[in-house]
Amino acid sequence: MFDLCVVGAGLIGSAAAKHASNFLNVCLIGPDEPDKKRSQDSPRDIYGGHYDEGRIYMRSTSDPVWAKLAQKSIPRYAEIEKECGIEIAKEVGCLSIGSHGGNYITSVKNVVEKDNLSASVLSGTEARSLFPFLSIPKDDEAVFESHSAGYISPRRLVKAQITIAKTNGCQHIQEVVRSVTRVVPDNDNPIMLMEVTTDSGTKILAKKVLVATGAFTAFRDLLGTGVSPDTKLYPLAVTKLEISKEDANKISTMPSVLYFGRGGDDWSRDYPVDPRAPVVFYMLPPIRYPDGKYYIKLGHSHDSVPKLLHTGTQMKKWFDQGPDARLTRQMADMILSVVKGVKVLSFHGDSCVVDVAPSNRPYIDLIHNQLGVAIAGNGYAAKSSDEIGRLAVELLMNGKWDTDLPQNLFYVKLKSGRGMCISKL
Ligand SMILES: Cc1cc2nc3c(=O)[nH]c(=O)nc-3n(C[C@H](O)[C@H](O)[C@H](O)COP(=O)(O)OP(=O)(O)OC[C@H]3O[C@@H](n4cnc5c(N)ncnc54)[C@H](O)[C@@H]3O)c2cc1C
Repeated sequence: MFDLCVVGAGLIGSAAAKHASNFLNVCLIGPDEPDKKRSQDSPRDIYGGHYDEGRIYMRSTSDPVWAKLAQKSIPRYAEIEKECGIEIAKEVGCLSIGSHGGNYITSVKNVVEKDNLSASVLSGTEARSLFPFLSIPKDDEAVFESHSAGYISPRRLVKAQITIAKTNGCQHIQEVVRSVTRVVPDNDNPIMLMEVTTDSGTKILAKKVLVATGAFTAFRDLLGTGVSPDTKLYPLAVTKLEISKEDANKISTMPSVLYFGRGGDDWSRDYPVDPRAPVVFYMLPPIRYPDGKYYIKLGHSHDSVPKLLHTGTQMKKWFDQGPDARLTRQMADMILSVVKGVKVLSFHGDSCVVDVAPSNRPYIDLIHNQLGVAIAGNGYAAKSSDEIGRLAVELLMNGKWDTDLPQNLFYVKLKSGRGMCISKL
């Protein structure tokens, strides 16, 4: 029997397992990334949001709460790398750009000032002279963080956290969990335990369970039959545009880029529109992928896609089939609007899903005193997953809310099968 069973071996679950395994007997249950290209013929219907090489990190995000979670996690990247010898972060810097005086860039600047972060506030012209290969609108405003910012590999971060957890004695079981229930396994000794049953029928007993299953939480009985978190599931598409190694070297100083603004006069206009600003995207500098090729990646905001996913079948189809060719092309055009002087060798689309809570903040909470959740990454949690996992473990295992951030910002909202909001069990 385990002290803690963490369900979901993704970014948050692996971080939680690592923290808990420092002082407890832990098991982590969740499947690895599928090794073959996904296909509809495969019976697999549970995927993750970490099958990639690039997630942006920076301390100055526009939401002060997410900024604090990031500021706690980022300094630990070096410790993680040292502990397991797996490189996870590239400190290439992060450039946040927005319309001058607009809500987005003003919020970023406020966080920089309030949290006393070292970052430069630049005019569009200044940002452009720093990165001449980026077509940044002159009348925009930018915040550039050169330190403690860049990108992490979510694949490597998960691998690193699991490696450390296993060194601490954590057992990793690569299965999908079908249900989590509270049981009294021994009538002579009526102690309530948590029983975790996998799709293959294996049963695991633990004193407590932490559910960290991201966007797939609703598609098994993890929080009680017919109960799911109140989150919206947005299908997100990315385009990866291949360039040569020589071109990647030419723009090797390129930082990660976040854009919320009107866009440049010469930028592609055929791009999905976000109600908050005409042009919203994030873009990663050239990264060498496991196929040996260099890709620049661009993704749109979840608000620019009115579509939502509701069923397991829709989720599987989106992961298996990927985005449509038009959206992939629109995003490739946007990359080429912004990054100048590179030759396109190829481009392709990829799909992912984000689970978004009404608060736009993660759920870190207890369903009851033996069952916790750490879900709803809202599309921002990769960089902050280490702190989210740690907070969830402290709350569930030690009954401690171990941060200055108000706990009520992280309360979970649940709904029943008919979409009704319900209170905790
Ligand atoms: C395209 C895209 C770009 C993003 N860009 C950024 C970025 O630049 N910066 C940033 O900080 N964040 C970014 N994010 C967000 C970040 O990747 C997510 O917030 C993060 O992955 C959430 O972590 P998680 O642990 O909740 O979910 P995941 O990482 O998806 O992990 C959940 C795990 O649970 C497993 N699982 C699910 N159901 C079960 C079950 N029943 N039994 C067992 N295991 C199960 C899954 O297989 C998966 O491994 C991006 C997300 C996407 C999709």
